[in-house]
Amino acid sequence: MLSAAALMNPPATATPVPPIESLELIRTLIAYDTTSRDSNLGLIHWVRDYLARYGIASQLTYDDERRKANLFATLPAQDGNETTGGVVLSGHTDVVPVDGQAWDTAPFEATLVGDRLQGRGVTDMKSFCAIGLAQVPELLRRGLRRPLHFALSYDEEVGCIGVRRLIADVTARQIRPAACIIGEPSGMRVVVAHKGKRSYRCRVRGHEAHSALTPLGVNAIQVASEVVAFLGRMARQFRERGPFDAAYEVPYTTVHTGVMHGGTALNIVPRDCRFDFEFRHLPSENPEVLLAEVKRFAATLLPEMHAIDSGTHIEFDQLSATPGFESHQGNDVAELGKQWTGTRDVGKVSFGSEAALFHNAGVPTIICGPGNIAQAHQPNEWVTLEQLALCEKFMRRLADDLCAA
Ligand SMILES: [Zn+2]
Repeated sequence: MLSAAALMNPPATATPVPPIESLELIRTLIAYDTTSRDSNLGLIHWVRDYLARYGIASQLTYDDERRKANLFATLPAQDGNETTGGVVLSGHTDVVPVDGQAWDTAPFEATLVGDRLQGRGVTDMKSFCAIGLAQVPELLRRGLRRPLHFALSYDEEVGCIGVRRLIADVTARQIRPAACIIGEPSGMRVVVAHKGKRSYRCRVRGHEAHSALTPLGVNAIQVASEVVAFLGRMARQFRERGPFDAAYEVPYTTVHTGVMHGGTALNIVPRDCRFDFEFRHLPSENPEVLLAEVKRFAATLLPEMHAIDSGTHIEFDQLSATPGFESHQGNDVAELGKQWTGTRDVGKVSFGSEAALFHNAGVPTIICGPGNIAQAHQPNEWVTLEQLALCEKFMRRLADDLCAA
């Protein structure tokens, strides 16, 4: 917990520490277990009530079961403008599971450990949301020249699902922001591009047989393994021959198989096997073309399978699609981002985000948030107080730009 004593005695070095209002808000948001599979309504309702205390109304858009919601809220400009030329601070409220991870502290408590804050979501990405929300009283006191919007989404971690409804609602209500900041962990650097991601499930139906009589069966695990091996060859080809973009940490498209299930017992030729794989592609690469290549290879395995049983097959289901995102490095939002961070360079990242969806909806977008993606999804997820202080500074510069006084 963030005890007052801990905050009165910051680390011995002169590490900048964010103000208590921001830390308290981070602590509040972390305390809601918003693992993607569960409801996020506790957190969303808390934010709705927090904003309502300042007279700000929230627009909630729900999933089909009304278990989860996005929140969109606008701090209007002093002249009453709520729709045009504003800035969106955008973050997802969901976090990845802590199941099976060894945590030294309670994951759903923001705990100060040395000069780090530890807890699920401290870097990915509740701190950005919290620090933004903590500015509300000050922004309203100073008065805005342009609107400021908060966009909090659900189900980002499982394929950027929720934010699509939020964006559709914002578009339908003719809200036209001039800029969007996605607070994914970027070390408070301005990120202008990320890779796209497509994930798929491949389902292989073979033919069962006694394992003493393998020629009478079609071994689904064996067939699936051949497709997985093909994916491995694709991955190697990208690694060796590109195309390359050196601005990315992993400067080429990657192909990866992450889950595989098959078979029931060793003495049965397995009838079923399925596995999940993904492409994380450069924005210039067309993922449809990549999938078509995999399907073409799979088709070459079919004649041998059908010779045993015409009912055997290899099928592909798309699990998720996040488009690649490439903003223009010299555009206005990138320039603003550089001013607000006080940095000169822009970067590109390998992980996907909601940036592509805002960008494709016509909202100029960058990614900029505290912490490092390397700490995201890990046990003992942490962010340094220094990064949080940099985020605070960013918000203050943003406020100076947006505020009348
Ligand atoms: Zn994230």
